[in-house]
Amino acid sequence: MDYEGYLMTHSLLLLSLFISPLLFAADSTVDAGDTRVDSDRLSATMQHMRTFGENAAGGSDRVAYSEHNLAALGYLAHLMAESGLVAKIDVAGNLVGRREGRIDGLAPIVTGSHIDTVPNGGHYDGIVGVMSAVEVARSLREAGVELDHPLEVIVWSNEEGGKNGSRSFTGAVADREMALPSLGAKTIGEGIAFLGGDPQHLAANIRHAGGISGYIELHVEQGAMLDRDGIAIGVVEGIVGIKRWYITIEGFANHAGTTPMDQRQDALYPAALIIAEVRKIITDEPGRQVGTIGRLDVKPGAPNVIPGEVMFSLEIRDLDMNKVNRLFAMISAAATAIAEANETQISFNQYYESPAAPTDKRIMALVKQSADALGLSNIQMPSGAGHDAQSMKGIAPLGMIFVPSRAGISHAPGEFTGPQQITNGANVLLQTVVAMDRLLR
Ligand SMILES: [Zn+2]
Repeated sequence: MDYEGYLMTHSLLLLSLFISPLLFAADSTVDAGDTRVDSDRLSATMQHMRTFGENAAGGSDRVAYSEHNLAALGYLAHLMAESGLVAKIDVAGNLVGRREGRIDGLAPIVTGSHIDTVPNGGHYDGIVGVMSAVEVARSLREAGVELDHPLEVIVWSNEEGGKNGSRSFTGAVADREMALPSLGAKTIGEGIAFLGGDPQHLAANIRHAGGISGYIELHVEQGAMLDRDGIAIGVVEGIVGIKRWYITIEGFANHAGTTPMDQRQDALYPAALIIAEVRKIITDEPGRQVGTIGRLDVKPGAPNVIPGEVMFSLEIRDLDMNKVNRLFAMISAAATAIAEANETQISFNQYYESPAAPTDKRIMALVKQSADALGLSNIQMPSGAGHDAQSMKGIAPLGMIFVPSRAGISHAPGEFTGPQQITNGANVLLQTVVAMDRLLR
């Protein structure tokens, strides 16, 4: 990073970084089991974060790399300093707050999430995990709980537009991504520089296997399972893998009035049968796998022409990639038979894969133990949405904690998680961080 340039352009942000942390007396005998976050303070910081980019509809326009994003990072750097964390912007535009541990040479325990939103998004997706992580660091310090490991609280940049911030930790960000548009007006490279990062030197962020002792992220569920069943905490089993295909069926476009029904090569009719078959194959076996056809293009697309070509998408998600592959094999066999029976040609083009990221069984157990000890109901569940946590796969054992999303609404102004629900999640995060500190070496 060009430190001088950064200083000049972001003096406001830097000013807050240099507020020297007040040092609390270390007391290694403190029992962290009784330590709780300050619920009122956490609610207050959640409320203040709303002000960075709230729009007239009550939603959030704090898209990655916007002025609102930068201003919110300045506020967070200030909170980090107050919490005894030394804050800096890394080369990918992540805000990293770090406190050293008692034992030299241990890799850090990392917790964090993101504060960027989709346009007209909500005030909880990502934000709950960030504000709680800072509150956990602050509560531990105030209670005099010292960790053996360094603690890092990270606000990942651009989660919603490509997870460039977290992906930079494994070197997974390609150079060409810097020229891609972000969700705002800047390219991703321009955006990283705007936050004070250095898009030319993202490799400086790479952390190799073992470079992080453990990663834990608190997040809103973004689905309705916890809310529907009145359960406080989701113990996340992993982030599902995703595969996507385009499937094309070719028939023969012809006059809809003059071509008898028994002489048609209608590409849409077998597509309709295949759509029904996908539903059947996905739901015929137990499990939480999901399959979706979300796009359908019909050519030539005229009411009086028999469809000559149909292209549709297929997406399958599950925690187990073998299951994803097996379900696709069944679908492709059935689809091929249907296409042939209707005198059409079919082809499959896989264009996207995001491998599943299972969470660490030990960390899952610690999350569950922490929730149980706090008297909070909990269930195991997969994450159907992607998260920064999945970027840590391969460099750190990872875990995730879910709190309920009202009615499962997310990426919209109606997104909501109650203050007590957030406090519950933050307390589970605190206890899990302490337990990880003891378990992971
Ligand atoms: Zn998120």
